[in-house]
Amino acid sequence: SAPATLRDVFLAGRAHGDKTFLVYEDDRASFEAFSRATLALAQDLIRGGVKPGDRVAVAMRNLPEWPVAFFAAILAGAIATPLNAWWTGPELDHGFTDSGACVAIVDEERWARINERRGGYPALERVLIARAPAAPGTESLTDIIGAVADWGALPEGRVPDLPIDPEDIATLFYTSGTTGRSKGAIGTQRAGASGVMAHPFSAARAFLRRGEAVPVPDPAAPQKVALLSIPLFHVTGCFATLVTNLYRGGRLVMMRRWDLARAMVLIERERCTSAGGVPTIAFQLLDGMAAGTHDLSSLETISYGGAPAPAELVRRLRTAFPQAQPATGWGMTETTATFTHHQGEDYVHRPDSCGPPLPVCEAKVMDPEEVPLPPGEVGELWVKGPVVVAGYWNRPDANAEVFRDGWLRTGDLARIDAEGFITIVDRVKDMLIRGGENIYCAEVESVLHEHPAVVDAAVVGLPHPTLGEEPGAVVAIARGQEASEEELRAFVAGRLAAFKVPVRILLHDEILPRNPNGKILKNELKRLF
Ligand code: ATP
Ligand code: MG
Repeated sequence: SAPATLRDVFLAGRAHGDKTFLVYEDDRASFEAFSRATLALAQDLIRGGVKPGDRVAVAMRNLPEWPVAFFAAILAGAIATPLNAWWTGPELDHGFTDSGACVAIVDEERWARINERRGGYPALERVLIARAPAAPGTESLTDIIGAVADWGALPEGRVPDLPIDPEDIATLFYTSGTTGRSKGAIGTQRAGASGVMAHPFSAARAFLRRGEAVPVPDPAAPQKVALLSIPLFHVTGCFATLVTNLYRGGRLVMMRRWDLARAMVLIERERCTSAGGVPTIAFQLLDGMAAGTHDLSSLETISYGGAPAPAELVRRLRTAFPQAQPATGWGMTETTATFTHHQGEDYVHRPDSCGPPLPVCEAKVMDPEEVPLPPGEVGELWVKGPVVVAGYWNRPDANAEVFRDGWLRTGDLARIDAEGFITIVDRVKDMLIRGGENIYCAEVESVLHEHPAVVDAAVVGLPHPTLGEEPGAVVAIARGQEASEEELRAFVAGRLAAFKVPVRILLHDEILPRNPNGKILKNELKRLF
């Protein structure tokens, strides 16, 4: 039966026993070893005074200690609160003071950033540092759970005997802060556990829609091996990758951070069956494949989401990796990872779409007067379902604005076709209005990506005295290739209406600046004009 809580997911994971679960550099931990370390830490947190509902912050890069800290907090009845490892100064202050975390489990680099600011976090009582000796006022996590190599020798451990209800709050994940100050999204036990059935159900539905039989999973199939190259502190890293693989017995090859050269070594050495994360990573895997230096033939799936993926990407992946299925999805921190799933033939035939909603979830498109729009028309996407979070932490204003009778207003513009396939056209806040005509940046970006010399593209609004805004673009050109501004403008003009053609195109020689989640930092680009 489907798990109703993240504790159920943990118990299902423990049952995978001696199979390898976590691989990080020279460290390997089986499901059993991971479970022992997690239970040891959960009991220690309880002994240290953590009470149900307390926030336990997890602030570190992708290390094997991250999943241990996350599940230990949840098993102790606390709210696991992952903080963005890229945050510095004021962003960290916001994470700690907004969540009111009483325990922080950090790596050395995060400790160095928190150390001098800790006085400003009155709720914070306890700091555990992973992979380092205790500094004054802190404890070493290794003193509690040992080094990864020794986890298997820890006592079996006891699952804390706490009442855990599917509607209890289990997680607090912070949004990326792309459109304003980062907000804490309150995830329930049920929302966190729902995602594990999502992909098998979506895949099954795609077979049924084509009138084909759903293949029965082969219990003797070799273990799946996922390259984890995106941060665990974002919902796709945590739920779509960590939580699902724990449940299904998949192996995670963890990267501290994304790096193409290192990724290729790991895919070849560990025979990874899936890789991806965000569209930028998929584009870089194409470069890696073209370089031909490593055997990447073990890949069965290349999946990505979280930011617009131009239609060109799926076509190029199909050619470069004929043995792998491209997969994409749309989601938000507020939907606990991906809310749509789009894979294989369905995706190749509808390369602009991010797929239909997950089973048991609903989506609709609304006009500004909050009236539902018919199929094919563009409006704001509203979503509903068990994966949608219970609200924002400490933000009654934002709650009143975006939650309506169980629906979440996403702030994204989309259209849904008659078969239920969703296409994201832009963020409401990114759309430009040029003299009354709407311009969706993502559409223009997608066309720029079709130009053979273009490796990256972003469209932003430039102020205009009478038209309001005009589109401008920043484009990165592939090394060794050339394209002029005029040529690129003519290329767009051949494919889109004249009012959508960027009035200025700046050429950039590197990939465009992005936040860790793969989202282009449009405000920085506007300054280039
Ligand atoms: P904040 O809400 O703090 O401003 P954010 O919206 O970037 O930041 P996330 O929750 O990480 O924070 O990102 C969700 C957003 O990412 C979606 O609302 C959407 O705009 C974008 N996104 C996610 N998946 C896709 C996709 N497949 N295609 C296009 N955009 C996507
Ligand atoms: Mg958002």
